[in-house]
Amino acid sequence: MSADGSATPPSADRPLRVAVVGAGPAGIYAADALTRQDAVPVAVDLIDRLPTPFGLVRHGIAPDHPKMRAIRDTLHRTLDDPLVRFVGNVEIGTDISLDDLRRHVDAVIYTYGAALDRHLGIEGEDLPGSLAATELVAWYTGHPDADRARVEAALEGVRSVVVVGVGNVALDVGRVLARTAAELESTDMPQHVLDTLAATPVEEVTVLGRRGPAQASFTTQELRELAELEGATVLVDGPDLELDPGAEERAAADRNVTRNLAVLRGWADHVPEPDRTRVRLRFFARPARVLGEDRVTGVEVERTAVDGDGRAVGTGETEVLRADLVVRSVGYFGTPLPGLPVDERTGTVPHDAGRVLRDGKPSAGEYVAGWIKRGPSGVVGTNKHDARETVAALLADVADGVLTTGGPVGDLVDELVSRGVAPVLIDDWRAIDAAEMALGATRGRARTTLHEREALLAAIRAATAR
Ligand code: NAP
Repeated sequence: MSADGSATPPSADRPLRVAVVGAGPAGIYAADALTRQDAVPVAVDLIDRLPTPFGLVRHGIAPDHPKMRAIRDTLHRTLDDPLVRFVGNVEIGTDISLDDLRRHVDAVIYTYGAALDRHLGIEGEDLPGSLAATELVAWYTGHPDADRARVEAALEGVRSVVVVGVGNVALDVGRVLARTAAELESTDMPQHVLDTLAATPVEEVTVLGRRGPAQASFTTQELRELAELEGATVLVDGPDLELDPGAEERAAADRNVTRNLAVLRGWADHVPEPDRTRVRLRFFARPARVLGEDRVTGVEVERTAVDGDGRAVGTGETEVLRADLVVRSVGYFGTPLPGLPVDERTGTVPHDAGRVLRDGKPSAGEYVAGWIKRGPSGVVGTNKHDARETVAALLADVADGVLTTGGPVGDLVDELVSRGVAPVLIDDWRAIDAAEMALGATRGRARTTLHEREALLAAIRAATAR
């Protein structure tokens, strides 16, 4: 129900106005699920803080995974749907408060992800030369908020890298750092990223698991890819792969673990080769301290064992690994949006099947999907099912009369413009898209990402002036 108190079921003349906050995969799949049903007429505003859509498809999936990144073409079909309006360059909580947003729409679906990085909580973690994977990923995908100076200073002269964590993001980071310049040449990475990586003389990347190979969270396809790197040899210590009979039995019950172990065991006889980067996978090793005075020089690791509950237990045996760069890749965490409840322990919004819970009760007209709903897990496609569940809850609320349309409210974009905000709409995004493809074409690439907010907005102005 709107601020004026009137309430009617949605109709073709007055569709249900839904704002989706976050134009990443979860938001786009939510918009898709809303437009694919015909029980309830809808009009969807797909809002993003950035002037660009696609969230982690643009600024998460590694640029050397062009096939995975191509999912943007499928997602674009939803952006092109006449029932969906892309509203970029708008930050909820800054450009417009959550309360004001809610006054302009009938329902909000929060899909803004989990952008914060987790910390290790160990000494030396904040030394220069110690980065979060989120910082490095933001930089190499050309995110406008990336701290270019900080990342490039951390990469200067780096020969040895330690990546903490054995998830798919850790493999992405390790792989990108171990790639040759020729392998990265055709990607959409900004030119300064390609130049910096080409000038970084990485000789060794150690990917560190605090538990055993059977507890690693990376997936087999991503693991296998390490052996396909043109200029790197992947190394793994045979003894790390020996499991006791109980652990072997548990491992056999999990397909991903069984496949991972088979791949890793196939590499146990690899030996370092001259002139090739070494990508080392180390298990049962948890970082105890990051070493260095003015900048990182190494990591002290403690050997672990995995107890009966699957937890890493320190053995007291330590070792120092040389490192000029430490990248912690130990998961993401959701940020609070002013006015929206977030569980501080999990970094997710409390919900029931996608209905936001305030003080334990469903809050009419508020829903959540994606990483901010379920935590930072799963692949892009996982968001499709997740968003469908949320949209089903929304549609059920309409059917039950819990969610109705309010009286006449002003248009959200008009309201934003009246506040001096310059929303980026779909044609503006198309101008950015074309400018990135044109920039890429100057060097024979399909695309080069524009990495500065000002450059993105300038592309729009240039197209408008034509
Ligand atoms: P993740 O899969 O949860 O991996 C996090 C890793 O960090 C785990 O190995 C975890 O070990 C480790 N870790 C956590 N705290 C630690 C600590 N204090 N010290 C040492 N290690 C610690 O998360 P992610 O790699 O960030 O990936 C997020 C999601 O995106 C995942 O679902 C992933 O599959 C997905 N993703 C997919 C792709 C792809 O499909 N190509 C690419 C990138 C990301 P423990 O298990 O011991 O806690």
